[in-house]
Amino acid sequence: MSTDINNKDNFITKIIDEDNRSSKWEGRVHTRFPPEPNGYLHIGHAKSICLNFGLADEYSGKCNLRFDDTNPLKEEEEYVKSIIEDVSWLEFLWEGQPLFASDYFDQMHGFAVALIKAGKAYVCDLTSDEVKTQRGTLKAPGENSPYRDRSVDENLDLFARMKSGEFDNGTRTLRAKIDMAHPNLNMRDPVMYRILHASHHRTGDKWCIYPMYDWAHGLEDSIEKITHSICTLEFEDHRPLYDWYLESLGAYHPQQIEFARLNLNYTVVSKRKLKRLVDEGFVDGWDDPRMPTISGLRRRGYTPKSIRNFSENIGVTKRDTVVDVAKLENALREDLNQIAPRVMGVLDPLKVIITNYPDDELEYVDAINNPEDGNAGKRKIGFSREVYIEKSDFMEDPPKKFFRLSPGREVRLKFAYYITCNEIVKNKNGEIIELRCTYDSETKGGRSEDGRKVRGTLHWVSAKENVKAEIRLYDRLFIGEYPEKEGDFIENINHDSLRVIEKAILESSMSSPKPGCVYQFERTGYFINDNKQSTNENLVFNRAVSLRDSWAKINSKTGK
Ligand code: ATP
Ligand code: MG
Repeated sequence: MSTDINNKDNFITKIIDEDNRSSKWEGRVHTRFPPEPNGYLHIGHAKSICLNFGLADEYSGKCNLRFDDTNPLKEEEEYVKSIIEDVSWLEFLWEGQPLFASDYFDQMHGFAVALIKAGKAYVCDLTSDEVKTQRGTLKAPGENSPYRDRSVDENLDLFARMKSGEFDNGTRTLRAKIDMAHPNLNMRDPVMYRILHASHHRTGDKWCIYPMYDWAHGLEDSIEKITHSICTLEFEDHRPLYDWYLESLGAYHPQQIEFARLNLNYTVVSKRKLKRLVDEGFVDGWDDPRMPTISGLRRRGYTPKSIRNFSENIGVTKRDTVVDVAKLENALREDLNQIAPRVMGVLDPLKVIITNYPDDELEYVDAINNPEDGNAGKRKIGFSREVYIEKSDFMEDPPKKFFRLSPGREVRLKFAYYITCNEIVKNKNGEIIELRCTYDSETKGGRSEDGRKVRGTLHWVSAKENVKAEIRLYDRLFIGEYPEKEGDFIENINHDSLRVIEKAILESSMSSPKPGCVYQFERTGYFINDNKQSTNENLVFNRAVSLRDSWAKINSKTGK
């Protein structure tokens, strides 16, 4: 396995260490990541992936990728494909082939027959509404089903007929015979099988009874000889049932361990809700760069390493918390700062004419590819009489602390020359459309021989040699910090979460960006070529993240 994940000590590693000391599993560590293929994976799943695969890695164990495909109504092959792609992209290797719960349907059926024979399961003719009303409440016990005391033979016969398709959807279920007065509602004769005449994406029309999650999940773990079955906290109340099924069958019995799911502020992490955003057209598909899906993060410019580092840094706990999404963005900045090639890109261009530079000349200056990486080398970029700078890098009447260009002020054009602004050209509306500057030919490379210092260094692109591009700047998809808690999450959608800049000007090397490579546009942020929308005629770049956390600044200003 090729990962650099090293889960810090946490309560799960403590359990595993203890198990290894006592030889509970003969030193084996075998985990699994068990997604239901009913949507694309999101950042919460990434946390679970990093945890499960990370533990296997750390203890030289194994981790299975297993599809929990027990509900034919919501599951699709498209999701299976995307999940395989996403786990691979995070650079985790699973044990053997991807596994499917549906491959165990025959075995599960056999286990159900065994429970019936042991007098621990029965066919019940109540409708699902009746089952619900007879279940009781946290304060009141439930009622026994009138079908609870059917003989083993009658149960076997009815279960066989359920399986052979004799009955309509919802007319019967197979239920475990546990205790209708149990303080834990999950233990009140839970349903194991339901009748559902529906075609499954892998087993086709072979089955018309499908296992319920709680029944199926423990069996899947048992069949695969999982040692530590790690899931999120909402399954804590289901653990007694997980244990009851496996004990009643006398089957191999993994240990279920629960941890707190990852929640992020300004973000929704639930496949069901993310699906709504896609289905109702609020975003451009599951991989929209604003989506917290792994595919969205990838398209946005996130790196596998940044997501793994983020997962590791937030740790594993038993307590539900909301993590600041700024931590995720910072994990990306940290990684990209090390690896992203630097290029020049002007998003909001202002023309500068260097009046004392020869009109027909195009010279090449050396630009450093990545100051953080000694091996990244240099490249040549074209410099000429006309260049573009960022509009916001000029002020006609600057405040004291503005060190960029202004009338009479000298600044450095990075890697090129010092220039001084002499004249402002405006249109008839009074808008600045051009600056006239002079350059000092003695400052080639952006260094002055006489030791003269300038306070400002600007990025720029030559007007003679460049490429135009469309730039997409993304903001948070939700305005509320807790979009799921503050009313309907749809009401909290930020309708200005995408800003398109149609004519940015980039250095010419960006005409053929490397696929999947995230670039730092000097002083501006990190950008990736959009593999879905970009064409040779219309280059499109997504901003992955700005250089600094501007939100933190805003929040600290407002005293938050
Ligand atoms: P969702 O609520 O988004 O549908 P889920 O839990 O139903 O998620 P599954 O496909 O069942 O999705 O999840 C596969 C694994 O990922 C499970 O072990 C689940 O506990 C884990 N998981 C899902 N969401 C999170 C999260 N936010 N944080 C950590 N782990 C998660
Ligand atoms: Mg689910």
